[in-house]
Amino acid sequence: MGILEGKNILVTGVLTEGSIAFEVARLSQEQGATVVLTGVGRSLKITQAMGRRLPVEAKVVELDVTNPEHLAALPDAVREHVPHLDGVVHSIGFAPQSVMGGNFMTGEWDDVATAMHISAYSLKALAQATAPLMTNGGSIVGLTFDGRFAWPVYDWMGVAKAAFEAVNRYVARDLGPQGIRCNVVSAGPIKTTAAKHIPGFDQMEGNWSDRAPLGWDSSDTEPTARAVTALLSDWFPATTGEMIHVDGGVHAMGQ
Ligand code: NAD
Repeated sequence: MGILEGKNILVTGVLTEGSIAFEVARLSQEQGATVVLTGVGRSLKITQAMGRRLPVEAKVVELDVTNPEHLAALPDAVREHVPHLDGVVHSIGFAPQSVMGGNFMTGEWDDVATAMHISAYSLKALAQATAPLMTNGGSIVGLTFDGRFAWPVYDWMGVAKAAFEAVNRYVARDLGPQGIRCNVVSAGPIKTTAAKHIPGFDQMEGNWSDRAPLGWDSSDTEPTARAVTALLSDWFPATTGEMIHVDGGVHAMGQ
């Protein structure tokens, strides 16, 4: 029996086979879950193709997390495939390049606002839209890059991640009474599409694998996805508002 046997999980953020969310969807199925994906805009068809590459074909519903109509329609769209949800994965992030890559001091509000909307506020929006589907309680899990620090080139995306981590705590506070947990996994650098969009990402990656007591492979999404899968299961029943590091141990080291 897998740790997600009988559970229905909604997974956002599958863009390529290299997406963290793709590995979460694959492991969730391996652990017994029924997985529904969300896809956005021009990449919706790509996500549908990715859904067919999973061990069991996963259906895809459309969700631009900044679109109020999509959010309002989400419960009915999900119910076409599963009657309720037990877990939701937020694996969404975006900031215009004008507010990353060393452009912190020149970043303008409209672009910062886009980053905050898609990368931070969206956790609240997704939680609000899916909470009515989690009738037996549930687990929401998001992905972050430790927002407690100022990193090279991450700039306003780093600020958005700090906000995202704060949103995590407030969602945990407000949905806890319904038995819904909300946690984030802070991953080390992984060479995904989102990472390649960050100008100078190699500076963030730095010598991560040397600094990590356990070492770090920036082409491997599985350690991060395993932690997400564990948080989706019943094995963290009293954990919410938490940030769990999956970074080879870098967060715990000094220079
Ligand atoms: P990815 O590019 O594969 O995934 C990002 C996803 O965000 C894509 O599927 C994209 O379609 C989706 N997205 C963007 N705008 C959206 C919108 N308006 N509505 C709905 N979806 C939208 O890259 P990834 O690295 O797998 O990113 C997943 C999450 O992991 C992000 O939150 C990212 O910040 C976080 N993360 C990544 C790293 C890393 O080094 N790659 C490290 C820590 C945390």
